[in-house]
Amino acid sequence: MDFSEPSEATQIKRALDDFIEQEVEPLESEHPEFLGEDYQRHIVDDDHYQVPEYRDVVETVRQRSVEAGFYGMDMPEEVGGGGVELLTSAIVTEHLSNRPPGFHSAIMGGAGGPTPILLACTDEQREEYLDPLMDGEITTCFALTEPDHGSDPHYMDATAEKDGDEWVINGEKYWITNGPYADFAMTFARTSGEKGDYGGITCFLVDSDQYEVEKVHRTMGLTPGGQAQLRFDDVRVGEDKVLGEVDDGFGTAMSWIGGGRIKIAASAVGTAQHLLDMAVDYARDRETFGKPIGHRQGVSFQIADLATEIEQVRWLYRYAAWKIQNDERARKEESMAKLRGAELANEAADVAMQVYGGAGFMKDTPIEREYRSARVLRIFEGTDEIQRRTIARELI
Ligand SMILES: Cc1cc2nc3c(=O)[nH]c(=O)nc-3n(C[C@H](O)[C@H](O)[C@H](O)COP(=O)(O)OP(=O)(O)OC[C@H]3O[C@@H](n4cnc5c(N)ncnc54)[C@H](O)[C@@H]3O)c2cc1C
Repeated sequence: MDFSEPSEATQIKRALDDFIEQEVEPLESEHPEFLGEDYQRHIVDDDHYQVPEYRDVVETVRQRSVEAGFYGMDMPEEVGGGGVELLTSAIVTEHLSNRPPGFHSAIMGGAGGPTPILLACTDEQREEYLDPLMDGEITTCFALTEPDHGSDPHYMDATAEKDGDEWVINGEKYWITNGPYADFAMTFARTSGEKGDYGGITCFLVDSDQYEVEKVHRTMGLTPGGQAQLRFDDVRVGEDKVLGEVDDGFGTAMSWIGGGRIKIAASAVGTAQHLLDMAVDYARDRETFGKPIGHRQGVSFQIADLATEIEQVRWLYRYAAWKIQNDERARKEESMAKLRGAELANEAADVAMQVYGGAGFMKDTPIEREYRSARVLRIFEGTDEIQRRTIARELI
């Protein structure tokens, strides 16, 4: 067994730190309004869309990242990516998350960036969608969830019916990340079979001028203005817009879901480590009853438990990534990592807030923001219960 970090990961982390210092931090200093206590008020307009000034900064980071070669680094080299393997890219994801909220999330792709699902593109689709996506010229979104179906998308109501050479798509999609800004949506609709069948669902590439953004959702945490409700009314697309095989939309998407779960766990570990480090520093300095609070077991044991949990999840996500990289089945481990990672980020925000006391509850530390944002990790990309269901299914 070799627990050392791949040297490629160490090199990329170092290069990323330089890139952030030179290319991202100056932008953050120019726009303190998007990161300060009132960030929510400044980022979105009255209709809850992100304002053009904020979108410009995100797009600038995206372009600089493309030029520096970080964007889409985990996509294969044949499509213009960096060909970085899953374990390395997860370790890099952890590293990127181990810092306060900022503009770094667009560096590796972030919401709407390159995704391995699009490796199913035909040559023509690649030219129209994947190539410009890899160049950071356009963005996408993943439109699966519906008002009545989240954990059970194979019961979806959206349909696509064949009419001559065209498919006619009808349906509604909810809470779609990057939905307000995407240039095209990877849209899932039933093309055959019955509600509840895994087969019979097809993924279509639908341009944004063909569907309506009905509403931008308001969320508890995360960057505001990021999720939208999309409506597809008699949207007509040709056969050339089918991604992968007709009736096998889930087959196309599954190739990506495992890696996505591992990245969420890795990101949770990075966030938790950042919060732990803040708590440790504070516990060293803050004095009550004439001594630093870190000298009290009531505080230091919370910190010790959190540090232990971080190590557990860190090695769990790395093990899951290593298995996938070695072509071993890892459904159970991916779900375990996502489940424990989501719980960890929430636990870390809670411990950090407790150690900081009242200071943690105020908006002038990032703890309050992390506390609100961590909660969604237990819900999206498969809830805690759905991960437990997968783990149990693999076992039983
Ligand atoms: C911020 C955010 C961003 C999102 N981004 C996207 C996106 O980009 N694209 C997209 O398609 N979707 C997106 N989603 C949707 C997300 O994937 C769903 O919210 C998630 O899959 C859960 O579905 P649901 O919310 O409908 O909950 P439901 O499926 O209605 O579940 C409700 C509750 O019941 C539990 N439950 C359900 N079934 C079972 C069961 N069999 N056993 C035990 N418990 C069960 C669930 O765990 C949950 O606690 C996003 C959601 C959020 C909040």
